[in-house]
Amino acid sequence: MDKLAVVVPCYNEEEVLKIASQTLRDVLEDLIRKEKIADDSFILFVNDGSKDRTWELIEEEHAVYPTRVCGVKLAGNVGHQFALTAGLITAKDMSDVTVSIDADLQDDVAVIEEMIDKFHAGCDIVYGVRKERKSDTFFKRTTAQTFYKLMSLMGVKTVYNHADFRLMSKRAVEEFSKYKETNLFLRGMMPLIGYQTDNVYYDRKERVAGESKYPLKKMLALAFNGISSFSVKPISWILGAGLVIIFISILAAVYALISYFTGHVVQGWTSLILSIWFLGGMQLLAIGLVGQYIGKIYMEVKGRPRYNIEKVLTGDSKREA
Ligand code: UDP
Ligand code: MG
Repeated sequence: MDKLAVVVPCYNEEEVLKIASQTLRDVLEDLIRKEKIADDSFILFVNDGSKDRTWELIEEEHAVYPTRVCGVKLAGNVGHQFALTAGLITAKDMSDVTVSIDADLQDDVAVIEEMIDKFHAGCDIVYGVRKERKSDTFFKRTTAQTFYKLMSLMGVKTVYNHADFRLMSKRAVEEFSKYKETNLFLRGMMPLIGYQTDNVYYDRKERVAGESKYPLKKMLALAFNGISSFSVKPISWILGAGLVIIFISILAAVYALISYFTGHVVQGWTSLILSIWFLGGMQLLAIGLVGQYIGKIYMEVKGRPRYNIEKVLTGDSKREA
């Protein structure tokens, strides 16, 4: 039977912690009863340097349910993406499969069972995808959707309307742990891992209690990070802009020469206008070219794994990677 770890990053979540613990314990008990997961499955709360009583509450829960509720205390606040990574990497050595979920229970815990079923059917990653965004404000909904569209425009593979509610097998987390980059955008990284994946759909609810720890500033930072960590397309656009402007400078040259010969120009205008367009174009082209190298260096320094072997079939053996 597979041992499940539910990883929950928490930052100042004292209002929801006990409710989250209760709800998730009920889910685990139910799955254990149905013999879908091992009876030593557990919840792993990751305290992301909370300033309130979150950690004390985690300790209290652990004292009452020593095997069911476990905790990781980070030394300071590192943000949701790092806290989740810390939790996943800690959990992978203690379990066979992980599910990550926010402490506020906005994601529907009822679909965890479906995730486990898909895992048993052979999926290594199962994405929780929101059906609709009824509970979000108009603002959050439109900004989020624009963001997903922008990401795909930039050529970043992400799962539409998926946040970080996700099942990952032990080997998927192990592969993920080989990505050493510090600019983390988990949603963009998981599709790079490969393996068989699937989605489960749910309605996202309101927070059970407390308020969002993702103000607009953090959201924008996450969005910018997502794009800049995965795409060097903006650099290519500079190169493209350079080419376009040089082309315009040729048109401008024709126009300026015609004007010159028909005699409608002030002295010195022709050479000036030609220089402005041409030099502008050349400068952009040069910056874009340098940028291409920087883009490559950027991709190199990430040191991402180049491939992930799932299986090897050889003459005398059949191995699983
Ligand atoms: N979180 C965290 N560190 C932070 C900010 C948030 O671990 O610096 C956690 C938070 O406790 C919650 C999850 O990340 O479990 C998602 O945050 P929140 O629900 O506030 O975001 P929203 O759903 O409003 O986007
Ligand atoms: Mg939330």
